[in-house]
Amino acid sequence: MQLNGAEITVLGAGVAGLAVARALALKGAEVTVLEQAEAIREVGAGLQITPNGAAVLRGLGLRGALEAASIRSTAVELRDGLEGDLVLRMDLARLRPDMGWYLTHRADLIALLAKGARDAGVQIRLLHQVTQIDLSGPRPRLVTAQGAQMTPSVLIGADGLHSRLRGALNGMVAPFFTRQVAWRTVIPAEPGAPAVAEVHMGPGRHLVSYPLRGGSLRNIVAVEERNRWVEEGWNTRDDPLSLRLAFEGFNPRVRGWLDQAEDVWLWGLFRHPVARMWGRMLPEGAVAILGDAAHPTLPFLAQGANMALEDAFILADLFAARGITGEALALYQATRAPRCRRIVAAANGNARNYHLRSPLREVAHLGLRLASRLAPAAPLAKFDWLHGFDATTSTRR
Ligand SMILES: Cc1cc2nc3c(=O)[nH]c(=O)nc-3n(C[C@H](O)[C@H](O)[C@H](O)COP(=O)(O)OP(=O)(O)OC[C@H]3O[C@@H](n4cnc5c(N)ncnc54)[C@H](O)[C@@H]3O)c2cc1C
Repeated sequence: MQLNGAEITVLGAGVAGLAVARALALKGAEVTVLEQAEAIREVGAGLQITPNGAAVLRGLGLRGALEAASIRSTAVELRDGLEGDLVLRMDLARLRPDMGWYLTHRADLIALLAKGARDAGVQIRLLHQVTQIDLSGPRPRLVTAQGAQMTPSVLIGADGLHSRLRGALNGMVAPFFTRQVAWRTVIPAEPGAPAVAEVHMGPGRHLVSYPLRGGSLRNIVAVEERNRWVEEGWNTRDDPLSLRLAFEGFNPRVRGWLDQAEDVWLWGLFRHPVARMWGRMLPEGAVAILGDAAHPTLPFLAQGANMALEDAFILADLFAARGITGEALALYQATRAPRCRRIVAAANGNARNYHLRSPLREVAHLGLRLASRLAPAAPLAKFDWLHGFDATTSTRR
């Protein structure tokens, strides 16, 4: 079955919205994306597209574009942030050759997804901020800040952490502060920087860095535990000095990077529990949510965008195979929610493990060093359930 002629409105032109729009359009749907911003753009920062996310981009016919926009990563290294020495290495050469792990600029990922969506016939309407969603009628009813009213039959909410469709389906609840903040910046990369994602772990904080854009830039995400988040907005520009001070006890390599930071943004990391309800049939339509709207996560396993890509492919696949039906929606939630819960829990676990304090920290690092010397394949194999998952075949098994 295909989706020929089905008219579907997607809310939000982030990773989730653009990916699901292309996936649905490739199945024959007529898709319109509503985006509140006046342009499709992203913050200047990096993303790791792990093999499970790359499998979806391949399934959407965007593998060439991903490879052209990215650096293929060779390893993930966990380091003692204070001393700088190696604690554990995940050698990505151990992945199957078809399993790529990519280091990508967010703006480049969004650009290739937006082009992919438009090439498949998707209409992207900018400056459409949806302020109300009412699910009490036969179809979803939307009101925009610009005064438009719409009643699409099928509405997909890819509208991120503060999702209005999640609120309409599950009740409007404010996201909670995770007691973690993240600075983000990019600096010029040193020539010949290895294609490695380095995680420098310290007490109560850690820093992740890897090269981007052909090795010309270095992405930096630096996380610190905090009890309170006092800013009105959820992200704000910050003084680079605060970032340097927070990591002044770290090794010289990290301090050298931070000395070069000029344009620094600080995020309060907020989230919701994984949504209780992911979709619903209405008398003349249907609604569903995906991406951060359904399962915002701490970014400590690099999976938020990768999960959104998996959701997008599976939702479109189920709609095409079973029609836009209650059965497809039930299967969508049954397939996705347990996996996303597991990923969110594993990311929470990394927050604890990366930020250990003495004496636990020394004991844990010693254990990791010994374990990875005795069984060097084990650290990567432990995550096979995560990175080995292929959403493009999962619903047909
Ligand atoms: C520090 C940090 C590092 C990260 N690193 C990684 C990583 O390495 N790998 C990874 O996979 N993930 C990573 N993530 C997570 C990832 O960024 C998110 O999970 C992902 O961007 C979510 O995509 P989304 O499309 O669901 O939501 P969003 O990116 O939030 O997109 C939502 C879109 O909807 C629009 N919108 C919202 N409300 C409305 C409305 N009412 N009307 C119209 N439009 C609306 C927004 O403008 C936006 O364009 C990281 C996150 C952080 C904070």
